[in-house]
Amino acid sequence: MKEKNLLQKIVLCFISIISICPIAAAQSTTEYDIVLTGGRVIDPETKLDAIKNVGIIQNRIAQISSEPLKGKEVINVSGLVVAPGFIDLHIHGRSNKEQEYQLHDGVTTALELEWGIENLKEWYTTRQSKALINYGASVCWPYERFKAIDKYKDGVSKLYQRSIKGESTIEGMTNTILPASAEPLTEQEMSKTLSNIKSSLAEGGIGIGVPIGYLPKTNPTEMYRVYQLAGELNALVFSHVREPNIISIQEVIADAILTNAPLHIVHINSMSLGQIQLSLDMIQSAKNKGFDITTELYPYTAGSTLLQSAIFNDGWQDKMAISYGDLQWVATGERLTKETFESYRKTGGVAIIHSMKPEWIKTGIAAPGVIIASDGMPYAPLAHPRTAGTFSRVLGKYVREEKVIDLVTAIEKMTFLPAKRLEGIAPMMRYKGRIQIGADADITIFNPNTVIDKATFDKGLAFSEGIEYVMVNGVFVLKNVKTVENVFPGQPGYGKYKK
Ligand SMILES: [Zn+2]
Repeated sequence: MKEKNLLQKIVLCFISIISICPIAAAQSTTEYDIVLTGGRVIDPETKLDAIKNVGIIQNRIAQISSEPLKGKEVINVSGLVVAPGFIDLHIHGRSNKEQEYQLHDGVTTALELEWGIENLKEWYTTRQSKALINYGASVCWPYERFKAIDKYKDGVSKLYQRSIKGESTIEGMTNTILPASAEPLTEQEMSKTLSNIKSSLAEGGIGIGVPIGYLPKTNPTEMYRVYQLAGELNALVFSHVREPNIISIQEVIADAILTNAPLHIVHINSMSLGQIQLSLDMIQSAKNKGFDITTELYPYTAGSTLLQSAIFNDGWQDKMAISYGDLQWVATGERLTKETFESYRKTGGVAIIHSMKPEWIKTGIAAPGVIIASDGMPYAPLAHPRTAGTFSRVLGKYVREEKVIDLVTAIEKMTFLPAKRLEGIAPMMRYKGRIQIGADADITIFNPNTVIDKATFDKGLAFSEGIEYVMVNGVFVLKNVKTVENVFPGQPGYGKYKK
């Protein structure tokens, strides 16, 4: 199936090439499905940055030309940037509610890779033909180990029921598996965990989500065994490291190097805090030695997670160098006290953690190779603004206003770099993150002079501004700044082990 899938893509690509040759020769007579005229077309792989016309046939980019092109639908995009659709490899919302915010932020592919998703086969089935943008997920190691422990079979079947109804959420899953998080595995459970991971990779999982930060008591042997499996299969590990400090970053780098597992460290900003430069130097040094290690960042000085999670076990104030007043309760927007912290930790819910300095974020954004990813949360009116504003914020605040990086570099960090990171493990990515003939027509068109995030910590989620058109697989999902109703062109992205 893997080969067939790849072959189909190669054949498709070949067809597009042979059909493009005559088109290129006689492009004035060809009628494209959609033509985008006069935009500033930016392709981060080839470094194309020029005014061009783009012709689209079905779900592919069929022509990029300085000559006028004929189209059934012609849209004048002069004054706007025509970029590959943004690829967000770190999100947690599983429905169209979150996808609509991402869409207005220019995202055309949103993947849950940090945690992964339980019951992948069922989840992919429930999303089919219903998604606004492309979707996919990794294998969830915390769930696969939970499933390997016999006494939790009721929890496993409860989660399965939710999955087949399309009602699974990250909060529902983490709350169910939390009781097992501090439990060491027997040898038998360990083997079962590894075989569960393999089975879920065969259901299409893109690599393995290993958020050990939420299971910080996991013993190093278990972690090492998971990395060994990843190394054997060349399955990318996505890690939220054990603690927000440099030793935890060294732990995952060591595991990756010793086992040959490819590694992606999520949100380096909230993991390394004041030592972001040192963390980036370590990752760069590993890369220079030929190890496959990458990282990402979201452009905000606060993090966000469930208050009932292990992140807030005793000692959190020292680990993150913050106190109660630095926590903001998403349900109401209030800052916490010792009393409200204790009471909300019992009931459960999402908190925003104000723990970072603006310089750390700039350092991370400016660093070569660092990918932009949102860590977007499930929908709530006062959810962390990164859910809705990550990409526009980079373009508006860090490119236009503060000039931390240039526009082409920013687009590269949102498109080509994540595609490149994933294409060895998720074949669909070879055709994404690029404005090139034969590439998927996932396109984001924005005004570089006005693009900006509008979601804030105090007022909550809001659509970003300046993103004018978004096309997913050749279909407009955002047009003239408005969501197009009743179109669901989002396609699944699978890992290469899918059977
Ligand atoms: Zn995380």
